[in-house]
Amino acid sequence: MICCKECVDLLYEYIEGSLDSGTTKSLEEHFQECPPCIAFFNTYKSTRTLCRDTLNEIEIPDEVRHTLQSFLKEQKKQQEKK
Ligand SMILES: [Zn+2]
Repeated sequence: MICCKECVDLLYEYIEGSLDSGTTKSLEEHFQECPPCIAFFNTYKSTRTLCRDTLNEIEIPDEVRHTLQSFLKEQKKQQEKK
């Protein structure tokens, strides 16, 4: 089983469809047992195409928003490293 942190780490690849089928399956199993991760996934999926600044205008739970913001920050950091 994968944990929530791994779930968040894999989310980008999952949306891009670049995960292997075994990992995809574990991720989907995790979603079934973890509503917060589903909420995060849905939020991420619907906001990833938007500008990061619009994040504050979207009505999502504070907890999810904070997770999402730190996730996007982390992604930005990783992109800058390349
Ligand atoms: Zn989870």
